[in-house]
Amino acid sequence: MFDATRVPWNDIRDRVEFPTRLFVNGTWIQGSGDALALISPHDGAALATIDTASASDVDLAVRSAREAFESGIWSGLAPRERGQIMMAFAQNVHDHAEELALMISLEMGKPVREALQTELRAVVNCLRWYGESADKLVDEVPVTAPDSLALVTREPAGVVAAIVPWNFPLTMTAWKLGPALVAGNSVVLKPDEHTSASALLLGKLAYDAGIPAGVLNVVPGYGRIAGRALAEHQDVDVLTFTGSTGVGRALLQYSAQSNGKRVWLELGGKTPSVVLEDADFAHAVRSSAEGCFYNQGQMCTAASRLLVPAHLLEEAVAIATEVARSMSPADPLQLDAANGSLVSVTHRERVSGFVERAKAAGTRMFVAEPSADLPADGAYFAPVVAVVDPAHELAQNEVFGPVLAVIPYQSEAEALEIANGTDYGLASVLWTQNLNKAHKFSRKLRSGVVWVNCFEEGDMTIPFGGVKGSGFGRDKSLHAIEKFTDVKTTWIQLS
Ligand code: NAD
Repeated sequence: MFDATRVPWNDIRDRVEFPTRLFVNGTWIQGSGDALALISPHDGAALATIDTASASDVDLAVRSAREAFESGIWSGLAPRERGQIMMAFAQNVHDHAEELALMISLEMGKPVREALQTELRAVVNCLRWYGESADKLVDEVPVTAPDSLALVTREPAGVVAAIVPWNFPLTMTAWKLGPALVAGNSVVLKPDEHTSASALLLGKLAYDAGIPAGVLNVVPGYGRIAGRALAEHQDVDVLTFTGSTGVGRALLQYSAQSNGKRVWLELGGKTPSVVLEDADFAHAVRSSAEGCFYNQGQMCTAASRLLVPAHLLEEAVAIATEVARSMSPADPLQLDAANGSLVSVTHRERVSGFVERAKAAGTRMFVAEPSADLPADGAYFAPVVAVVDPAHELAQNEVFGPVLAVIPYQSEAEALEIANGTDYGLASVLWTQNLNKAHKFSRKLRSGVVWVNCFEEGDMTIPFGGVKGSGFGRDKSLHAIEKFTDVKTTWIQLS
């Protein structure tokens, strides 16, 4: 769909115009919170100063969303018409994909090629997919006695608040907007602090494509102020969130302490990649290491734990180390960069804290070299391979950086216990050529997604989400629409 090689990224870098105001009720408004400095993790450059939403700005956005919802200007459209506008929205994103991709790369550091060819492609596909689904949904007429007619219909929930992270900022956003909007809801979106500008542009593109004023409002702001105000708002019906487990749990409290709004949580992960004896070993280890380091390791599904038979440990470390070397960070605007920078210097300090603690404890590890010509003020961090036991913090906690924990196991039973032995349950990976083992082992893996002999495969038709500490509810697929609708029963007594 997109080709990053056609764009002179460095030449257009300085021409990017970052939106800086809040987008509420179809117009730019000034925020009354403390302004937010947008700093590029590429090189520490100041990109823009963004207005942020205070609690009263959030209230204004929610009121605008409520008015739009009650007016029926969107919720009352024929589904087919909504679908057509969603398709126009997708097309508008498609037409501005290069600008959005560059903005994301400058905001959070991923290679611009990935931002365009992976992220923007996913966003356009997602919006199109939900747009196409609009008039293909059906309600139910269950069988009842002859003197009655019962209708079971899906009604839009009303006002949806979406709070999203920075790692795949627009993909995560599209996964919320697609199903929420197609079902007829109005939305207030709170992007992450690091990726506010691209989210604001997305909101404007939706409006320009015909999504009416007030139906999609974008309120950049600090999590503890704007995010919290949304989560505590008395007139928000549904809160959908992707982010860390800690914040997810705080949102449940905010909901309980306000109006008991329903909350959907897509949280962190600690994906185990279990390589069984009979697997294509080199391919499995290589794919797992790539799956750990991809997007600088800032991925909820990052294959951050590699479980290998103990007698193959040295072989696994050698392959993973070679992958680590090949995925060292580089200038994100360079087309051949396998990785860019982490999201911020603060995040780099957090990631390197894990590595320093492990080093100090004498952990066996390999640290790749970043290229020498990277700007000192950039948030670059080279991949790390560590050999640890299952209780080590690198094997238990989400690092959200390119750090692979290699864990040897003695038996398949032990491998299963280690794989399930964290608080998380988002995704698991299994490598085996044996059909029986593929089925039986994957049934016992406690995670919302299991990939067998592959990593990160998916489709818009397939739901995505976790269990245990990784949250509940599913993004993508028609299942996601269930989160943003209420099942309504209408019983008609026939005389
Ligand atoms: P984060 O939880 O710190 O922030 C996510 C969002 O929550 C941001 O918009 C932030 O401003 C907001 N926020 C922070 N504190 C808040 C509060 N008190 N009240 C309301 N909102 C608040 O997460 P992050 O560091 O931006 O993202 C990384 C996390 O996201 C990782 O844990 C990762 O695994 C997770 N993630 C999960 C998935 C998934 O689908 N399961 C996908 C991507 C990322």
